[in-house]
Amino acid sequence: MKQEITFIQRKELKEKPEMASLGFGKYYSDYMFVMDYHVENGWYDPRIIPYAPLTLDPAAMVFHYGQAIFEGLKAYKAADGTIQLFRPEKNMKRLNDSCDRLCIPQIDETFLLRAIKQLIFTEKDWIPDGEGTSLYIRPFIFSTEPYLGVRPANQYKLLVILSPSGAYYGDQLSPVKIYVEEQYVRAVIGGVGHVKTSGNYAASMKAQEKAEANGFAQILWLDAKENKYVEEVGSMNIFFKINGEVVTPKLNGSILPGVTRDSVIELLKYWNIPVHEAKISIEEIFAAHERGELEEVFGAGTAAVISPVGELHWNERSITINDNKIGQLSQRIYEEITGIQLGKKGDPFNWTV
Ligand code: PMP
Repeated sequence: MKQEITFIQRKELKEKPEMASLGFGKYYSDYMFVMDYHVENGWYDPRIIPYAPLTLDPAAMVFHYGQAIFEGLKAYKAADGTIQLFRPEKNMKRLNDSCDRLCIPQIDETFLLRAIKQLIFTEKDWIPDGEGTSLYIRPFIFSTEPYLGVRPANQYKLLVILSPSGAYYGDQLSPVKIYVEEQYVRAVIGGVGHVKTSGNYAASMKAQEKAEANGFAQILWLDAKENKYVEEVGSMNIFFKINGEVVTPKLNGSILPGVTRDSVIELLKYWNIPVHEAKISIEEIFAAHERGELEEVFGAGTAAVISPVGELHWNERSITINDNKIGQLSQRIYEEITGIQLGKKGDPFNWTV
């Protein structure tokens, strides 16, 4: 796509929030990127314009049939002031995989990444530079055509908004309590769990609400067919360290292929730590704990990078992992990946852009 990106300037810039109160997803920067699609024109009119509410037709198909997908990645301000993205081409590719699954037209990945870079450059004063902070980047696409018949829409909007985010952890990682969910499922093979459709998250809230009401931070999702095999934890991929070896559920069509997951696997291989992608049952995990071999459990995702699991509750049993302390490997992976993201460590894989 060779189109120029139009820029419309704001009259007044917003006041920036205090670093200490950033939290997650509460503040939005001054500008957003927008692009439209019409079946007759393809994607057109890419523009960076003042952040503002949208006007949509009440019959816009997204409200009725839910063709909506998104991505999530972060921009970091490195120690030397450089702005860094972490493997953003993987998010662009996954966005197109999500489009494909929901019959949304493909985007030009190179063009979108260029647009995102231009937006971030415009908004560079919105990138916080405190420890653990970042500028969260949320690209998303939804159907806008006013029509009530069920079919893929002929009109869409793609937006990218930016939200400064605070540190996920305070001084250090903190292990969380996890509920292994047996009543509800997140995704089925043949469904949409392997991509980032908004509906996946709508469908996950009931179980999350139940877990929270019972004092758990997140859910561990099992497979939908046999209610037996481990899939993901909350909105993160999951890893287990058993007797010196690391294992993570193999991508099977209902698990989201996380960028962090892939990075953890690459890193472990680079360190010569045995790592396997396999079908793992929750029974095996509890049995490994019984034998004293379950050394560490952690989630991996863009938001927290690494989130240690301190306790698992399944089938009326609770097990404590590593005395509810941060595992050595979890800590090492966390430091390495955040070090690469912030330009504090070498980047042997050329992950940063
Ligand atoms: N699983 C789910 C369901 C998610 O929403 C996410 C966050 N995108 C992940 C895993 C982790 O993916 P990533 O490492 O790309 O953030």
